[in-house]
Amino acid sequence: MTYNAPLADMGFALRYGTGLAPALAEGLFGDLTMEDFEAVLGEAGRMAGEVIAPLNRVGDQDGVTFKDGAVTTAPGWKEAYDAWRKGGWNGLTAPSQWGGQELPQVLNAACVEMWNAASMAFGVGPLVSMSAIDAFGVHGSEPLKRAYLEKLVTGEWIATMQLTEPQAGSDVGALRTRAERAGDGTYRIKGQKIFITYGEHDLTDNILHFVLARLPDAPPGTRGISLFLVPKFLLNADGSLGKRNDVRAHSVEHKLGLHGSPTCTMIFGDQGGATGFIIGEENSGMACMFTMMNRARLAVGLQGVGIAERATQQALAYARERRQGRLTGMPATESAPIIEHPDVKRMLLSMRALTQAARTICYATALALDRAERGDDKAARQAAHDRASLLTPLAKAFSADIGVEVASLGVQVHGGMGFIEETGAAQLLRDARIGPIYEGTNGIQAIDLVTRKLPLGGGAAVEAYLAELRGIVDAVNATNDPALGWTGVRLEDAVESLERATRWLLARLGKEADQALAGASPYLRLFGVAAGGCLLAQQALAALRLGPDAAPRIALARFFAENYSVQAGALERIVVEGASGVLGADGVLSA
Ligand SMILES: Cc1cc2nc3c(=O)[nH]c(=O)nc-3n(C[C@H](O)[C@H](O)[C@H](O)COP(=O)(O)OP(=O)(O)OC[C@H]3O[C@@H](n4cnc5c(N)ncnc54)[C@H](O)[C@@H]3O)c2cc1C
Repeated sequence: MTYNAPLADMGFALRYGTGLAPALAEGLFGDLTMEDFEAVLGEAGRMAGEVIAPLNRVGDQDGVTFKDGAVTTAPGWKEAYDAWRKGGWNGLTAPSQWGGQELPQVLNAACVEMWNAASMAFGVGPLVSMSAIDAFGVHGSEPLKRAYLEKLVTGEWIATMQLTEPQAGSDVGALRTRAERAGDGTYRIKGQKIFITYGEHDLTDNILHFVLARLPDAPPGTRGISLFLVPKFLLNADGSLGKRNDVRAHSVEHKLGLHGSPTCTMIFGDQGGATGFIIGEENSGMACMFTMMNRARLAVGLQGVGIAERATQQALAYARERRQGRLTGMPATESAPIIEHPDVKRMLLSMRALTQAARTICYATALALDRAERGDDKAARQAAHDRASLLTPLAKAFSADIGVEVASLGVQVHGGMGFIEETGAAQLLRDARIGPIYEGTNGIQAIDLVTRKLPLGGGAAVEAYLAELRGIVDAVNATNDPALGWTGVRLEDAVESLERATRWLLARLGKEADQALAGASPYLRLFGVAAGGCLLAQQALAALRLGPDAAPRIALARFFAENYSVQAGALERIVVEGASGVLGADGVLSA
């Protein structure tokens, strides 16, 4: 099954769903134009469809090979990675000082979607590297950046992100990997990390591990964590590869999906300690890692979008071909393509609508990051920073869930063939399933949204967003176009539910925090169906203004509002009425 980058849908989401058009008009990106965006996206689409997508299946079937501490990726992967990095895709947003192109985050977001739609197991490697570039660029010392950053930007070397240990998953503060001062400004790292994405591989000749560890005199918990750069190979004075560092992959995991991506257990310090270089200050590792994780979280949301898009394309193609049953009134001798059955139409529309809603939420988050970096007035930059902070857990968790839901619908559209590996529909579902788990589980994202992001600026960040959603609802209601059906009414109810649930949660933070924690996941979903509906409606309104081809975008917005945003009322009840029932039980039905 091929992948065709959905350039029209991506362009529409960018232009009309995220506010890119006004951003370009006001010069946020200098003299970049929409045509420049389209040219880059077209090239990325070709790279994704022609070079990466054909490797998805072999990556799944062959997986990776682990022998004597070395990992070999599936046939063709190294060549594809080389072609991809030589295209300059790894450093799209990176500073030009280090060989990057300083292009907008929102443009990169669309590209990240494509890499991961083509092959999520391929895309997850660069995802970590791009996030590391951000954190290293902000927190790394100048000598360290001079030595390592350019090769990371060009993709000649790949990064890893190393937090997880057997006893420290969601609870990062429980990590035990030790760092000792060596007396020469470097550190000796000893310990074990598990589940490390691309911890070892043959794609590049050096690997830069970004490792969280604890100094002997560090305070307990997350306040006592430092971040270290631990290269697989140390460098000679002239920058060439030198001695092998004391870090190795002990094994690779056998996983449900993402087989093409090596997930490694890593051992540091077998021979006395791996040489590490500190990033940022001692004990400030979590702040540095958060820069890295926030970018990675948005990218995991984009993985969900990419998988959802691929599943939708595949299901649509199958539904056009497969004939079963008759439509009402059809002669007994005939059979209809399943795409014509109302229940299959519902599945396909769900797939398309959920994908476009999640896509727009992710792109809007990326544009907020751009405004936070490039806005010319400090207050606007701060507001954009808060907007990006608010939307990041939503972009990650809502979209990762959509990836799983849509991939599962994709299997369903295929019937029995979906359960058979040959069609590739099953692989998409297996690959998608990690999205809600890694980069902070979706439960942890929901807690982050409720306990850290809603209170931002004394609630000002979420209030400003709610006001924007209300503005979209008003515009829909003012349009009065019968083709929009119940869209205005459903969105109005959804945004009101979101407002009430938000205030209820904010009032419970502190003394009744457990009530808020119990409602966090349904609240995040409520946020998604309300915001997603509004963003699709905004695109439908733009399509109406543009003229004759508006019908499909109106139909999509209407479908989402009438089938998903309408769930907001029930979700509000789950948040505000369901918490006590959750807290009074533990899921154990009999002693
Ligand atoms: C394929 C793969 C790749 C990965 N890549 C990396 C990587 O490159 N680098 C890295 O460092 N890690 C990586 N991980 C690890 C991943 O980030 C963790 O698995 C994840 O953070 C969850 O931690 P855990 O598995 O220990 O689950 P746990 O923390 O044990 O969580 C189990 C369940 O309990 C819930 N839970 C836990 N604590 C709380 C709480 N306080 N409140 C409410 N609910 C809670 C969780 O939401 C979850 O549902 C990877 C994992 C996999 C499977």
